[in-house]
Amino acid sequence: MTELRATTNDLPHAGDAPASATPVSAQALANDVAIAATQPATPGYVAVDPSKTNLFDLDRVSLEDFFEQTLGEKRFRAHQVMKWIHHRYVTDFNDMTDLGKALRAKLEQHAQVRVPQVVFDKASADGTHKWLLGMDPKNAIETVFIPDKGRGTLCVSSQVGCALNCQFCSTATQGFNRNLSTAEIIGQVWVAARHLGNVPHQQRKLTNVVMMGMGEPLANFDNVVRAMSIMRDDLGYGLANKRVTLSTAGMVPMIDKLGEVSDVSLAVSLHAANDELRSELVPLNKKYPIAQLMEACVRYALRKRGTSVTFEYTLMKGVNDQPQHARQLLRLLRQFDNAVQMKDAAKVNLIPFNPFPGTRYERPDDAAIRSFQKLLNDAGMIAPVRRTRGDDIDAACGQLKGQVMDRTRRQAEFRKKLESQGLGDAA
Ligand code: SAH
Repeated sequence: MTELRATTNDLPHAGDAPASATPVSAQALANDVAIAATQPATPGYVAVDPSKTNLFDLDRVSLEDFFEQTLGEKRFRAHQVMKWIHHRYVTDFNDMTDLGKALRAKLEQHAQVRVPQVVFDKASADGTHKWLLGMDPKNAIETVFIPDKGRGTLCVSSQVGCALNCQFCSTATQGFNRNLSTAEIIGQVWVAARHLGNVPHQQRKLTNVVMMGMGEPLANFDNVVRAMSIMRDDLGYGLANKRVTLSTAGMVPMIDKLGEVSDVSLAVSLHAANDELRSELVPLNKKYPIAQLMEACVRYALRKRGTSVTFEYTLMKGVNDQPQHARQLLRLLRQFDNAVQMKDAAKVNLIPFNPFPGTRYERPDDAAIRSFQKLLNDAGMIAPVRRTRGDDIDAACGQLKGQVMDRTRRQAEFRKKLESQGLGDAA
């Protein structure tokens, strides 16, 4: 059975809002955006105190610097505070009992630990869990946890909305508002990990993070890289490099920059292996066409022996699901394997399209998906089909919406389009 829960504010020290959970009906939660639109996005939202540093914004090195330079303390104190925050979910300095009283007072004066406000959360029948998190009085984003056979993957958002206009993505219809801060990105991990009772290195519930929520992570480079460093730090969430995956629509120069500073797994949203079709589906392709994108992927893989790159391919009926598309894909990925001189350097993830109101695309039927997959398999390419999870709570790939105060006019245009189709209430 699907459990539905609305939470005005279930986090300690997050503000003055009551800590009670308000039950609402399944019907009322049927459309996240409708809900979010009828309530303030962030009940009990407390404005950030600009005179204090939010410690969620700092990775290990910057927190050590903060202790040394701002507080005049030893650098190792930063390690104690990181463990309190990310391992024990304690955000009140007074509860950090291995810190002296004077230091706690100093922290109180200069620092804060601001966790995101849970507007509501929903659990799916299949164990998937989605949170709508208020980031400021006007904007909210979504985060999804997906448990699967011994692993727990969190799908994290990097921006409020998305400025790219991928034609088959629900987030795109929301338009774009702003980048998320490091605190707002790692705060998503904190909320989920705390809910799960995750204890890094001991009771691992959260084993993987994918930057595949709302937004284009490479368009928010510094904040995403810093947040990923906390995810991988032993004093943070202790995830291995390869268990943190950044997914991009193909921002070529930023892929190279990522390769210089980070060692995470790279996923690329390909969806078509010819420029004409890809430019239609992913308009960013006009700026960085497939050949340039593949060269950047080759450079990323060649930095370190044994690196593979995952290519995501969302299957859309009659659009990119035909045998000739599979053959084009195969050719492209073989070229990639050859260029990095490694068998199976290219991995493919087939994602059946997840429909949303107003979209012109459809999911292919199972037989078409299977024959696309078989064509790849027969040529020796492993191509798992990603199962749709969290269908009943709109948590599937490309469906994260949240609430975005659009600065790009795209929401208004999409609404107009829906109205013309008689679907005026759907967005
Ligand atoms: N901007 C990044 C990450 C966000 S999307 C990127 O483009 O990679 C995460 C993945 O979901 C991408 O591969 C995206 O193309 C895919 N996706 C988006 N909308 C989808 C939909 N409606 N159905 C299936 N997959 C979708």
